[in-house]
Amino acid sequence: MINIFPSTDLVVRALFARIQSSRQLLDNTITKRGLPPTTSPSQLACRCLAAILPDYYTDSTNASAYTVLETKNWSSNCNLPAACFLTPVHSVQIAVALLIITLAQSKFAVRSGGHNPNPGFAGVGAEGVTIDMQGFTALHLSADKSYATVGAGLRFGAVQSYLDEQGVAVASGRNKDVGVSGLLLGGGHPLINSLTGLAADNIQSAEVVLLCYPWVVKASQTQNSHLFRALKGGLTNFGIVTSFELKTAMPRNIWYRVVAYSNSNPRAVFDALVNVQQRMEKDPKAGIEVTCSPAGFTVAFVSGQHTDDPEVFAPFRALTPTTETKPPTNGTTLEFISFLSAPQPEASRDTVGVTTYPDTDLYMDIYREYLAATTTGGSATTSFLLQIQTFGTASAQIAIRNGGNVMGTSARAQTWWNPIAQWTISADDAKVHKTLLGLADSIKAAAQAKGLYDKFIFANTASRDQNVLESYGPANLGSMLVVSAKYDVPGTFQKLQKWGFLASRA
Ligand SMILES: Cc1cc2nc3c(=O)[nH]c(=O)nc-3n(C[C@H](O)[C@H](O)[C@H](O)COP(=O)(O)OP(=O)(O)OC[C@H]3O[C@@H](n4cnc5c(N)ncnc54)[C@H](O)[C@@H]3O)c2cc1C
Repeated sequence: MINIFPSTDLVVRALFARIQSSRQLLDNTITKRGLPPTTSPSQLACRCLAAILPDYYTDSTNASAYTVLETKNWSSNCNLPAACFLTPVHSVQIAVALLIITLAQSKFAVRSGGHNPNPGFAGVGAEGVTIDMQGFTALHLSADKSYATVGAGLRFGAVQSYLDEQGVAVASGRNKDVGVSGLLLGGGHPLINSLTGLAADNIQSAEVVLLCYPWVVKASQTQNSHLFRALKGGLTNFGIVTSFELKTAMPRNIWYRVVAYSNSNPRAVFDALVNVQQRMEKDPKAGIEVTCSPAGFTVAFVSGQHTDDPEVFAPFRALTPTTETKPPTNGTTLEFISFLSAPQPEASRDTVGVTTYPDTDLYMDIYREYLAATTTGGSATTSFLLQIQTFGTASAQIAIRNGGNVMGTSARAQTWWNPIAQWTISADDAKVHKTLLGLADSIKAAAQAKGLYDKFIFANTASRDQNVLESYGPANLGSMLVVSAKYDVPGTFQKLQKWGFLASRA
């Protein structure tokens, strides 16, 4: 490994000097010489990491720093302890840490923005090491402004703010606090998918730290192209990404409007939505997202240009909003996602994802199922929302043009349903989780009954109990297993991560 990383780099030199001076301790620890036989794999790993990366290491003996790292996740039920946290800043530190974790056979987890609401996906528990990527903050724009290099520990707000000042933007999600890495590796549903493709399809290349020679690779359409394709939707199955090159394919200047409708006429709202979905197939500049609650519907309209009341949204003109939370605005991508990122309270969250095809009667069935679940599925502190994201055929075509991905989305306009829950009483965790899984089953059954079900499960909204990678289809799952065997020779990502959508468990 020492030959791969430049010896002129100060971080590399400092690390290898530490390894030299700690040789005895490292040997004794990994072989458990002089240690109680009960020493756990995570204790072994943390002992080594503390010795060679002391400035990037935190355990519970440093209570204040430890608490900050332990409670960083967006959802309270995902705030997990760790035997130790590692906050590296350089790929060589990750490569060595992964080697130690593998030698010790310790459990581990990787975290970037910490916004995934599945417990254990970005936090490991006391029996492992959590590697937090917050130190990877590279951010610059290419001279021709066609792509940005983005550190894997950044959140999209920081990225869009930097790019906005330079007159460009990238395809991101709707919330500025969500981490770049988790969103991209899960596919990434953006503001206008028919215009940009999914956020992952805007990755031009990624730098990935591996568990085997050559330790760090660039994955792109021309280098390690199978890994490149597998990363897009393939999550945390192959290595740890340290940076992405992202195309600046999202327009900076956009039009948007957000309105609310009452629950008095759900059919009218769904009719308008299905109609707009059909029109969007001919207008790739348009995007829409609907959030259903028992009280009514919030609809966010967006167009990828400065304009005035786009015709594509005409089916909604006949409906009278109860509130206009954001009047029609010619603004920027940054301003829009900032508007959508209101502070959220500390609470537990849960999620589930189902895909169907557009149809008003089906949407009515699903809304009824959702309302039934909200009345019985939680407690006084539980709120359930039903989010609707659309996916256009143009998005599938952009994916192919940009080197493909492993998600296996069908080339047909579709609807990604995302029931989510928020609550504060931890005794309700199991009940809420069961309610969401039951609701997903009901949505699936309603869609199957009408021949409108699609087996694809979107990773970024999926529950830990859903088989996301199987939903990509056997060929895509098979290719992920091949890539995993080639780039993660010891199988560390499959065996030592406790949770996550892992190819070997699909
Ligand atoms: C308020 C909110 C709004 C959202 N809006 C959208 C949206 O508009 N579109 C959308 O697609 N999704 C959206 N999501 C879902 C979001 O994309 C996922 O929850 C995503 O996993 C979060 O990414 P993160 O980096 O913050 O997560 P983390 O919880 O840190 O990580 C998620 C997963 O990625 C893995 N991972 C993280 N970093 C790396 C890395 N560097 N290398 C390898 N693996 C890594 C982790 O191990 C974990 O399994 C939203 C979520 C929230 C809470």
